[in-house]
Amino acid sequence: MRVKHVPQRTCIACRQIASKRDLVRVVRSPDGTIQIDQTGKKPGRGAYLCRRKSCWARATKGKQLEAALKVALSPADKAMLAEFAATWAQVDDQADENAIVQPDAVNDDEASEKS
Ligand SMILES: [Zn+2]
Repeated sequence: MRVKHVPQRTCIACRQIASKRDLVRVVRSPDGTIQIDQTGKKPGRGAYLCRRKSCWARATKGKQLEAALKVALSPADKAMLAEFAATWAQVDDQADENAIVQPDAVNDDEASEKS
């Protein structure tokens, strides 16, 4: 019996362990720029985040990503990362089922917005 080896990484925001391909790699290139590494092969120091907007928000607003990459993120970097995260809102909904529920994510604003 052979156990198939699946590379696993930890999301820097929620600390959940997932297979590498389910995570998105953010890399600080040798030249210092921050990039989304869709291939997982770019050179540089990498950090992994799962495909949840909540994790991206937490990692970029907090210090997790900066700490993981050992770099200070510029406003432009953060905007780029937020923009990238915004492109998979639907993936977010599906994947979030069993994940951390943030109490303040419940928006009763919309429901009560009848005038
Ligand atoms: Zn996560």
